[in-house]
This record gives sequence, structure tokens and C-alpha cells, in this order.
Amino acid sequence: MRKLSFRAKFAFGFGVSAMLAGAAIAQDAKHTDDIPVSDNALIEAGKKVKNIKTEGEKVDLARRANFAEAMNDVSERQEVFTGAPEHFTIDGSFAQGGILFGQTERGATVTLDGDSVMVDDDGRFLVGFGRDSALSALMVVALPDGTVERRAIEIEDREFPVDRIDGLDQSKVSGFTEAQLAKIAVDRKKKLAARKDTQQLADWSVGFEWPVTGRISGVFGSQRILNGEPKNPHSGVDVAAPTGTPILAPAPGIVRLAEDDMYFEGGLVLLDHGHWLESAFLHMSRIDVEPGQRVEKGDVIGAVGATGRVTGPHLHWSMKWAGMLVDPQLTVGAMPLKKVSTPAGD
Ligand SMILES: [Zn+2]
Repeated sequence: MRKLSFRAKFAFGFGVSAMLAGAAIAQDAKHTDDIPVSDNALIEAGKKVKNIKTEGEKVDLARRANFAEAMNDVSERQEVFTGAPEHFTIDGSFAQGGILFGQTERGATVTLDGDSVMVDDDGRFLVGFGRDSALSALMVVALPDGTVERRAIEIEDREFPVDRIDGLDQSKVSGFTEAQLAKIAVDRKKKLAARKDTQQLADWSVGFEWPVTGRISGVFGSQRILNGEPKNPHSGVDVAAPTGTPILAPAPGIVRLAEDDMYFEGGLVLLDHGHWLESAFLHMSRIDVEPGQRVEKGDVIGAVGATGRVTGPHLHWSMKWAGMLVDPQLTVGAMPLKKVSTPAGD
């Protein structure tokens, strides 16, 4: 996999010419400099942004950004695309599947492409980008004193491999019976109920560690072909390890679901790290935690297994932010070296 930047990186790459081209499209002939704009107007402008569907072209962001009246002012516009943020910091992976961990001032509000983002009492927040996200996003931070800061974020375009897995139990791939479909529906309801709420506590802020070490046998986002059938992209990262290997909480959190017999997932634990960021651990042979329980980073939550849809023992670790899959591997460093020969996928 390509090495991704973990430094704060803003959209310095947006050329001024592209920016002005965008301005020319959006501006309807009136010339206005230095317009005083209320916070509400900016927030409203931000809300409009999310209704505009774009597919990642930089000029689109320029056009969308110009929905705000303030963007008619050249210096303001330039700030959005080239200015370093003064009232917040964000750190993490500026890439598809990436998560950015942010810090702003107390009492500030944050939106990403017009959608509100949870900010805690200490000004911490996070945002994530899906596998197929647009290549740019607009972050608006509004401070209690009325200051509004708008910044364009550039998101790296990633390529995802094709991953063929054969030898899966066909009953876990397609041609489900009525009884199997009923079980799948019950499982889905349990997951939906477990994902109704999140905690305000920023348990994610201490950072993440690998829950298991071993060979990475599957990566996030790969195009899956299971027993010859094209399926959804792989939702997480697979780490091959022997059955019984302890799984450690990669960060603190509240257990939202602990089920030992899900149809596809097998033994499953959902862990809420706060601010709508969740880890899921699949195919477990043993579960040591209960819903509602708080776990600290490094606590054993259960053990690796080969339950559910698998070809061999491994941990499948996936993550969602606000219901959208993101790449857990981008939250941790390189896998520590360790030789494991178990073949395993899905
Ligand atoms: Zn997997």
C-alpha cells in the first residue's frame, strides 16, 4: 500500500486559476468586496453545500465554496484554499478511508461539507472519509465569538486491489434459505440497535494500536470476489493469527454489542470509541466482554477464531465513522514483524 501522509496537509495544491474559474461560474456578475456576513449566513451556506453532489473534482469545491457570499471576496476565497487554519488543527490520514482527528477552541461548532460534526467540551472532534469519497471537502469552524474559519481539505485518491477468495462455505456467499435470511435479518436488527447512540467521551483521542499482530491477509476497500461472485468491497483489515490469540482493545471504548453467533460475522464485538467512531471485531472464538462495559486500551476483549464467513482463523477489524466504513489500518502504525503462516481471508 502507498504510504500516506500523517501530517496536517491542507489544500495548498488548489491552483488560484482553478479557484477563479470556479468563482466565475458561481458569481452572477455582481462585484462585492468585504461583505459583512453573519455566522448564520455562513452556516446556511455550508448546509447548501451538502445538497450539491460532486465527484471529487477540485474545481467543484471551488464552485461549492462560492455559495457563501463571503467567497465573493478574493482575499477570503484565497484563505479557504491556501490559508493555514488558525483556530483548529487536524491530524491523521488525508486520504480516502482516512480519519482526521481535530482540535479547536471550546464552544466552537464544526461542519464538514455542511454536516454538523460532534465537538466535545474540550474542542476535540473527528471526521472520516469513505472508500469512494470526493477528493476534497470543506470544513467550517465557527467560534463562540463569531469568528468563522473555512478551509478546503484535499483528500488523496487511493487505489484498491482486487481480492479473490475461493473455498468459502457457499451457504455464506449466496443462495440463502428462508431460515438463513431470517437469521441475517435478526443480526442486522441487533447491529442497528447497537449503533443508535455514541458517547461524548473522546476515547479515540489516545490513539490506536493493533488489536492483534500477525500477517495482514486482507486490506480495507479491496474489490472482493468470493467463490467467483463479485461482492461489496472488503470492509476492514484482516490479520491472520491462530485461534485463541488474545484480541486487545485498540483504544478505550464502550462495548455496544457482544454476540457469539452472527451469520456472517461469527463472534462479533462492537466497540464505541466516541463521537460516532466504532470498531468491529469479527470471527471471534471467544468473547470476554458484555454490552455496556467500558474497556481500556490494551484490555483483552476476546480471542481470534474462525467463526462466520472465513477460510481460516483471523481477526477482521473494521471501523465506522457516523455509519460510514473507514480504514482502521490508517489509524495504526506499521504491523510489528511476526511470522504467521495461517492462510485466512474475509
Ligand atoms: Zn475481513
